[in-house]
Amino acid sequence: MTEVSVAKEDKAATGDLVVLDSVNKHFGALHVLQDIDLTIHRGEVVVVIGPSGSGKSTLCRTINRLETIDAGSITIDGKPLPAEGKELARLRADVGMVFQSFNLFAHKTVLENVTLGQVKVRKVDAKKAEEKARALLDRVGVGAQADKYPAQLSGGQQQRVAIARALAMDPKVMLFDEPTSALDPEMINEVLEVMKQLAEDGMTMIVVTHEMGFARSAANRVVFMADGRIVEEAAPDQFFSNPRSDRAKDFLSKIL
Ligand code: ADP
Ligand code: MG
Repeated sequence: MTEVSVAKEDKAATGDLVVLDSVNKHFGALHVLQDIDLTIHRGEVVVVIGPSGSGKSTLCRTINRLETIDAGSITIDGKPLPAEGKELARLRADVGMVFQSFNLFAHKTVLENVTLGQVKVRKVDAKKAEEKARALLDRVGVGAQADKYPAQLSGGQQQRVAIARALAMDPKVMLFDEPTSALDPEMINEVLEVMKQLAEDGMTMIVVTHEMGFARSAANRVVFMADGRIVEEAAPDQFFSNPRSDRAKDFLSKIL
C-alpha cells in the first residue's frame, strides 16, 4: 500500500484546502449561489445536503471550474482556480469528481478509463499507470472487470470505476455529487463502503448526498443549503438531533 494509499500524509498536515470566499453565481435572473463562504480543511469530510434546486451541484461544479463564478474567489491549496489550458487540466486532476451519472468513457475499457488521465495529464508512463490502475480497481473491488467496457458492468461497479479513475490522478480533494442517486438500492452500499474507506484513509471529501447514514457515520461536518445559500453548518450529531433553522427542520422532517 504505497501508491494507492491516498492522502494519508494529508491527515497529519493542517490547513485549509478548499476556500470559497463570497462566491456568487447567476444563471440569468436566478441567483443560484449567494455569498457562499466555505472552507474545507485537509482530511475533512463535508456532506452537503439540501432540497433539490438549492445549488448543491452548481457549488460542486464551480470548485473544479465546470462553471465560472460571477463574484468572489475560490482557492485550492492556496492557489486561485486557473481559467484555462494545461493549468486547468491539472486543477481538474487535483479535484476528483464523481457524478450521479457515471460518466465513464463508453468506448474505452475499464482499465483504459483509469489509465488515460494518468498518462495524458500526469505524464505517468504507460506501465506504471496500468499497475496503479489495477491496484486501484482491486481496491474498489472491481479488479476482475478491468478488460470489460463500462456498459458490461452494473451501475455500482461503474461508479466504483469512476472513483478509481478519479483517485488515479492523486487528487487533493474528491467531490461526489449524489454518487448513489442513480443506483439500484442493492448497489448503494457497495459504493458508500468505498467512500467510507476513502474517508477513513484521510481523503478530503465534499459529498452531496441524501444518504443520511453516510453523513452520520463519515462526515465531520454537514452543510445545509437552501435557495443558493448556506443556511446552517454543524457537526452531524448536532445537525440531525438539533437543527437550528426552520428550513433544516422542515427538510429533515421530510427525509428522515
Ligand atoms: P441542486 O444540485 O441542489 O439540485 P443545482 O445546482 O443543480 O441544484 O441547480 C440550482 C438551480 O440552478 C436550479 O434552479 C437549476 O434549475 C438551476 N440551474 C442549474 N444549472 C443551470 C444551467 N446550466 N442553466 C440555467 N439554470 C441552471
Ligand atoms: Mg444536484
